[in-house]
Amino acid sequence: MRINEEQLELVDRQIKRIIASGNYYSEVYQKAGITGVSTQEDFEKIPFTDKADLRNAYPLGIQAVPDEDVVRIHSSSGTTGNPVIIPYTAKDVDDWATMFARCYEIAGITSSDRIQITPGYGLWTAGIGFQAGCEKLGAMAIPMGPGNTDKQIQMMIDLKSTVICATSSYALLLAEEINKRGLKDQICLKKGVIGSERWSDAKRQYIARELGIELYDIYGLTEIYGPGIGINCAGQTGMHIFDDYLYLEIIDPVTGEVLPDGQEGEIVITTLVKEGAPLIRFRTHDLSRIIPEECSCGLHYPRLATIKGRSDDMFKVHGVNMFPSQVEEILGLVDGVSSEYKIDIAHDESKNRDIIMITAEAEGRVDFQETGEKIKKLFKSRMNVTPKVSIVSLNTLPRSEKKTKRVFDHRED
Ligand code: ZN
Repeated sequence: MRINEEQLELVDRQIKRIIASGNYYSEVYQKAGITGVSTQEDFEKIPFTDKADLRNAYPLGIQAVPDEDVVRIHSSSGTTGNPVIIPYTAKDVDDWATMFARCYEIAGITSSDRIQITPGYGLWTAGIGFQAGCEKLGAMAIPMGPGNTDKQIQMMIDLKSTVICATSSYALLLAEEINKRGLKDQICLKKGVIGSERWSDAKRQYIARELGIELYDIYGLTEIYGPGIGINCAGQTGMHIFDDYLYLEIIDPVTGEVLPDGQEGEIVITTLVKEGAPLIRFRTHDLSRIIPEECSCGLHYPRLATIKGRSDDMFKVHGVNMFPSQVEEILGLVDGVSSEYKIDIAHDESKNRDIIMITAEAEGRVDFQETGEKIKKLFKSRMNVTPKVSIVSLNTLPRSEKKTKRVFDHRED
């Protein structure tokens, strides 16, 4: 995908604004001799940036507007180091809500819907993004926030919620609970808008079936507004990303080379109109590809394929690169196996080799040993590595309302 004239002009304006602001990137660009862009080649000379820069600029080093223009901050925490702080202007907040309302519209949600919002409110961008988009659309927001499953289900029934917004893990937990309590007939849900986590087809099918809803994946990250910068359409083939606000690139995560459309790599995003904290060529570490064909739904926004994983989630066993999504795909092929799993990687000193251990859940009706053997064989044929497999009963592995950690690498312990 080439950057178009309009986008190029917006990036040029952003760079000039950044330099004039004297912020963290102002210095970076001046040192690199960057004064603006007028061609694709100029654009591709701009250095990438990522979360490490945002940490270095903690707390407000990336702010590109005077203090009086900032109306809000959000923060994304990491496992190490400083959190990242992103300042927003009133226009940024409004632009984000506009994009989010557009997401709801693409999902066929209207002002007569009642949207139950279960992602968290506070420093991070989740709950408030879902809510601002909902209000912009004119629908009724039911701002639950996470947790308290009894109350969630009660409100869902009493208020006749038609849309549920959740992480895939929490949607699964709700679906399992509603199923267990036999309340499916009392639920009015029609659609689910699921954000912030990559998830397997098996999980998707379970949630869709148990709750009787259509599911939509929303994309976004705190550094780039938050959730709601793109969503899949009814065609269900990839997520449309709003290219009037953002420019997308896919790069080779190792070499940084820009890859042609259709090829898989790391998503890099440039904000075209963000004021508070503009980011040019931000490395998301999410892996996907741009779907080159026009979408059958008629929308012209470019499409990203379902996120395959994070370049930093990749793990290596016996020299083979693996992603949790590949393990999920394999589990999805085996009858009676749930979509929850855990991967442990350890080093066997006596044999001086790595061991991969997979713990998966299976329904009581299937034979655990046979199921384990099936997974082992599929793994061997697809990944060329034989894992140790342990099968446990359904609902044994921990569920989480936020992102679930699934890969535990004990080799550096
Ligand atoms: Zn479409």
